[in-house]
Amino acid sequence: MDKMGSGEGPDNLQYRWCHLRKVLERTGPFCHPDFEPSPDNLNFLMESCKLLVIGAGGLGCELMKDLALMGFKDIHVIDMDTIELSNLNRQFLFRRRDIGQSKAEVAAKFISTRIPGCHVTPHFSKIQDFDETFYRSFHIVISGLDSIVARRWINGMLISLLSYKDGVLDQSSLIPLIDGGTEGFKGNARVILPGITACIECTLDLFPPQVTYPLCTIANTPRLPEHCIEYVKVIQWSKENPWDVPIDGDDPQHINWIYEKAMERAVQFGIQGITYRLVQGVVKNIIPAVASTNAVVAAACATEVFKLATSCCVPLDNYMVFNDVDGIYTYTYQAERKEDCLACSQVPTTVDIPGPEAKLEDLITVLCESPKFLMKSPGLTATIDGKNRTLYMPTVASIEEKTRVNLKKSLNELGLEDGSQLMVADSTSPNTLIIILKFASPPDFEME
Ligand SMILES: [Zn+2]
Repeated sequence: MDKMGSGEGPDNLQYRWCHLRKVLERTGPFCHPDFEPSPDNLNFLMESCKLLVIGAGGLGCELMKDLALMGFKDIHVIDMDTIELSNLNRQFLFRRRDIGQSKAEVAAKFISTRIPGCHVTPHFSKIQDFDETFYRSFHIVISGLDSIVARRWINGMLISLLSYKDGVLDQSSLIPLIDGGTEGFKGNARVILPGITACIECTLDLFPPQVTYPLCTIANTPRLPEHCIEYVKVIQWSKENPWDVPIDGDDPQHINWIYEKAMERAVQFGIQGITYRLVQGVVKNIIPAVASTNAVVAAACATEVFKLATSCCVPLDNYMVFNDVDGIYTYTYQAERKEDCLACSQVPTTVDIPGPEAKLEDLITVLCESPKFLMKSPGLTATIDGKNRTLYMPTVASIEEKTRVNLKKSLNELGLEDGSQLMVADSTSPNTLIIILKFASPPDFEME
């Protein structure tokens, strides 16, 4: 190592980290019961601890800066996005000359250059591009995402890494997930110990009502004006592509076209309430970003990473909300695990269906719309008469075409009954989930 250039000389180390040493080499009233004051704590943090930051946007930039300045030296970052002009006001690792380049790559280069000794490894990809071996190599995963689907996916991935011996969780298989989220002047930070504390799926109902709508609803059973607008935006635009360009929410011509097409669809389905303004709102899907909220939430998350990596303090238990709309307010509470959580309970979840006459598409609607599932585009398989059968598979065009006919068939016709098990694959989880059909008890008309 180049002691002069990298700033890692022993003296420098002593001085640079002296404040951390005070926390890590002495005991105190807030220490975790397992904490042992020692220089090994700082050593582990700097030399061995490997972190994964997911997202290099508003939260991600703050997170990487905080973690690197705290002494973590081995940080990986995943982001599939490229830098846009509108990012620059808050995503402070990027400059005008970086527009069009990978967020992960530019951020990694910035931090690695600016903070001596810290090395950030960029991954210009989707989280779904990596497998269990990759995720298993990290000590802690920190997410700064704006997508609920991606959060649910990484949550499912970390849960699938857990191993149990005689029903007891093997602690060494546990990778904590620190999750930060912001929307305008509101934010939250949470500590998730997969298999121990509430996971993302356990608290699915906490997420604000969906701003995007399940594809199956907008395509098959629109009920709201938003469904019609979303249909034109997602499906019709790419098919007809009137100007041969992507939708520009600021172009009145584009909004007008979507408005007219959405009106046509609304009339067809007897839906009212489409306005030009609503079209604009749905198309632009604006989530305001506030730099100060990002800074606070990222700092809270980075502090939790530090606590977990060193045991110097008891971690957040387990959900902190932050609000600076009017003054500053924070509140911490213990989010509870859901006994039949789809992701972390190891108990198959039941799905309530009126009866055997319900159609397969009705079941899919339930999986997309019930707050318990909120799936995007589920694929279903079942074992019927000892044979594995694909009931519906939306992700592969050729299989979709072959299985589409099943959508209109009743569960009864497909050979499914009360208590049947179904395997469900959806973009919200890396794992195949098992659900059990539960028919509502037959109405007691026999009594009448
Ligand atoms: Zn859970």
